[in-house]
Amino acid sequence: MAKDAKKKPKAYVVGKNCPKCGPGNKLAGHKDRFGCGKCGYYERK
Ligand SMILES: [Zn+2]
Repeated sequence: MAKDAKKKPKAYVVGKNCPKCGPGNKLAGHKDRFGCGKCGYYERK
């Protein structure tokens, strides 16, 4: 039987961190921008 835990489907882009929240807080990838769900920061692609 598979013992691996299910991987959560994340919309977060690897490598993009929030400059306000610091490393570890990834920005979520949107259609034409990245946004932080924690502080509301976003930047354009
Ligand atoms: Zn943030």
